[in-house]
Amino acid sequence: MVESLSTINNKLNMTYRIAVADFSHETLTFCPEPTDLKAWEEGTIKYGPETLNTEGEGQTYISGFKDAFENEEDFELVGILDAGWPKTTGYGSWVSTEAFDVITGRITSRLGELRQVDGVYLSLHGAMAVTNVPRPEAEIVRRVRKVVGDVPIMVTFDLHANEDIEMAHAADAVFVLKTYPHLDSHIIGRKAGECMIKTLRGEFKPTMAYRKPKVVSASVFQASEFPPMKHVYDRCREWEKKGVFCASVAPGFAYADVPDLGASVFVVTNDDHELAEECAQDIHDLIWSLREELTRKLPGAKDGVAQVLDMIKKGTKPITIAYHDERLGDGTHVLRELLDQSAENWCDTCLADPTALYEMNEKNKVGDTVEYTMGAWLHEISGKPVKVKGKIEYLGPLEWIETGPMGRGAERIIDLVAMLDLGKNRHLVVTERLYAPMSADPLKVMGLDMDSLDIVVLKSRVHHKAWWDTWSTVDFPVDPPGLGPANLGLLEYTHLAWDLYPIGEKYRK
Ligand SMILES: [Zn+2]
Repeated sequence: MVESLSTINNKLNMTYRIAVADFSHETLTFCPEPTDLKAWEEGTIKYGPETLNTEGEGQTYISGFKDAFENEEDFELVGILDAGWPKTTGYGSWVSTEAFDVITGRITSRLGELRQVDGVYLSLHGAMAVTNVPRPEAEIVRRVRKVVGDVPIMVTFDLHANEDIEMAHAADAVFVLKTYPHLDSHIIGRKAGECMIKTLRGEFKPTMAYRKPKVVSASVFQASEFPPMKHVYDRCREWEKKGVFCASVAPGFAYADVPDLGASVFVVTNDDHELAEECAQDIHDLIWSLREELTRKLPGAKDGVAQVLDMIKKGTKPITIAYHDERLGDGTHVLRELLDQSAENWCDTCLADPTALYEMNEKNKVGDTVEYTMGAWLHEISGKPVKVKGKIEYLGPLEWIETGPMGRGAERIIDLVAMLDLGKNRHLVVTERLYAPMSADPLKVMGLDMDSLDIVVLKSRVHHKAWWDTWSTVDFPVDPPGLGPANLGLLEYTHLAWDLYPIGEKYRK
């Protein structure tokens, strides 16, 4: 890295100015709702210094990055922008070119206004898919680079990132979290911060190696504490003990039809090219060797619920059912089976139906008995609407402070939610949007007696396990029709690499 004039100036002034921005999305391109500028504006975008205000958010990438600078008086952090999750009912589909250009433009124009920038930290997700922009995160880094010049740009990613060589060329150092459920965003943000500090002081020369194992896997098989991914993250930590600064693996986000789909490996060392290359190749080879374990079959709703009821009859309970491939919120496949198979003592924690919810809120109150035909309105894959009759046991906004490991300490608010008592200790939570409780906290606030339940249904893949595995005896993933299936062969991709295992053209029979 050639030192820029501003870096040299800065050293004389003894203050380094680091810009911080976040622009993140996990785009499920098979979903029906586009993620346009309106959706982003209706979500949360923070500007300027607010970017660095992480109070009430629990531990985040940015809180970790800030942490690294706590006792470093010769550094100044400057918040630029934080665009997190836009507002869509379920997962948002393609981010519009306009939204991407406008939000990236807000980042670059603010950077341009700063007279001096010595380094940039970009907290990105990695699975953004943008119309007409094939590799959006690399493009963000390039546009930022154009404004700030040759200063260190450090990037952190969620492990669901789909990245390739363009990112390896664009950024000075890439760091990916290592846990799924994601519990180390703070740690990986801090790592990026430490790298920034040492690099600007001339104590560290970020040297990166990159590999792309041609493997893609469903999220439900990527839990970091279980094989096969546990082997991969253990190996990363072994290399870090052998002198690698950070060995990162993103297994990727399978549900985006993008050319850089699939796993990627980024290794950062201090000026040791050989070590970086050796580590990256080793991890690449390990992932390739695990490719078959990263794919298996799961039961559908009917079979799955029947198996769960059988386990309960034999005394194995309580059980969480992970309706893992439901990415819209309106899916009814599991609810229908619970009703049809006369299951009792359960709570289905999300049926997104804003129309029914708003009507209930307008016309009814807690204690009323209501009858609605709900769900399956957003997409035909969600099933058929279900007729439910029950007593409203909760209706209104919901607030709590998260005590589970996912987002511990964060202040959570849901604008409007209802819980219906369907009799026989059966409960249905009706929401505006796709939602999965990361612990029983919100359910308890609504008055649910967790000890009385045999089954909790969660529209989640792995994140819920961080807390729900402490509640349930078995976590049981089911795979009814949905937009995030375990069998990736069910989706129609058009932008894939031909040799991507197991769905590239090379492997299609
Ligand atoms: Zn993720």
